[in-house]
Amino acid sequence: MAEILDCAIIGGGPAGLTAGLYATRGGLENVTMFEKGMPGGQITQSSEIENYPGVTGEITGMDLMMPWPEQCQKFGLKHAMVEVKRVSKDGDLFSITKGDGTTEQAHSVIVCTGSSPRRAGFAGEDEFFGRGISTCATCDGFFYKGKEVAVIGGGDTALEEALYLAKICTKVYLIHRRDTFRAAPNTIKRVEENDKIELVLNSTPKEVYGDNMGVNGLKVEDKDGNVRNIAVPGVFIFVGNDVNNQTLIQEDGSFLCDVNDQGQIVVDLSMKTSLKGLFAAGDMRIEAPKQVVSAAGDGAVAALSAISYVDELLS
Ligand code: FAD
Ligand code: NAP
Repeated sequence: MAEILDCAIIGGGPAGLTAGLYATRGGLENVTMFEKGMPGGQITQSSEIENYPGVTGEITGMDLMMPWPEQCQKFGLKHAMVEVKRVSKDGDLFSITKGDGTTEQAHSVIVCTGSSPRRAGFAGEDEFFGRGISTCATCDGFFYKGKEVAVIGGGDTALEEALYLAKICTKVYLIHRRDTFRAAPNTIKRVEENDKIELVLNSTPKEVYGDNMGVNGLKVEDKDGNVRNIAVPGVFIFVGNDVNNQTLIQEDGSFLCDVNDQGQIVVDLSMKTSLKGLFAAGDMRIEAPKQVVSAAGDGAVAALSAISYVDELLS
């Protein structure tokens, strides 16, 4: 069995990386961040971020996150590229069960596993996922250069990514189920003023159709029941996210700590959960503003709380 970690950080997005920076720089000796992919989190899928303080000019999410891991490693944060399957607790010690079946033990855990894109739930969505249906414009937008695409959703993500796709594609149909958006006013203005974006409002996607080569089009229904056929080879879905809380589910199906009815982790202002020694930060916590800057702030708060907890536990 490996040495007991002072702190295990699960997830390497803005919250996890900042927790790693503060935990190591704040004096915890043995801290590992478990991240199943490349560190950086979901913002690395964003084509543009313009609201991270102090960062001006056009910058992609990937560019923003690039230096974060190096900064943490300078202070001793270890990175294990592995998926965590479960976090459990026996007495004062946490067990972290990894995808390869092995476990590590820790005195404290900060869970920062963020959220994942939600499916919209129309016919053909699963069948054509990855073959014309995407949840990442930065990753897949280029495949539709010089073509028309559809974007589904009416939040910040859908509108920002519609603007991004309008730079590459000849036309973007922005399909939203209501006639008002839940996005920043400046973003709504830019969308409304973009003549390559056609707003298809009060409309719900019913079916994506295609053949073995991929998507050929999308059928949407308006509130009067009229069905419109939109012939596009690419459909981008941005209809929100689900909390990644799976690592906290125990063998008997219960959660390791309190969660609300949407599965978000209940924390106090110190990012403490209902279980001693377990902290949560970023998009997965209750009332998260779902911003890079707030996820990073949460990570810092959670690490400071973990330092106090471990100091007291081991003194
Ligand atoms: P995440 O970024 O979701 O990171 C969680 C990490 O945990 C991931 O790297 C994941 O791989 C890892 N993980 C999950 N489960 C496991 C597991 N079991 N084991 C190991 N690792 C695991 N915010 C802004 O402030 N400005 C913007 O302009 C902006 N634009 C956005 C554009 C898009 C397209 C998207 C999707 C989001 C945008 N956001 C923006 C929101 C922002 O990205 C999030 O609020 C932020 O990334 C949340 O950080 P987090 O660390 O809580 O979680
Ligand atoms: P979101 O704000 O939850 O918006 C999801 C959109 O999808 C809503 O417009 C919703 O419609 C629609 N929708 C949901 N389910 C649907 C379905 N089954 N079929 C069709 N449409 C459906 O999600 P998001 O845009 O991904 O944003 C998530 C969070 O990240 C937000 O807090 C957002 O502010 C933040 N974020 C911020 C920035 C930024 O600051 N620049 C950028 C991106 C994201 P209704 O409106 O009718 O509910």
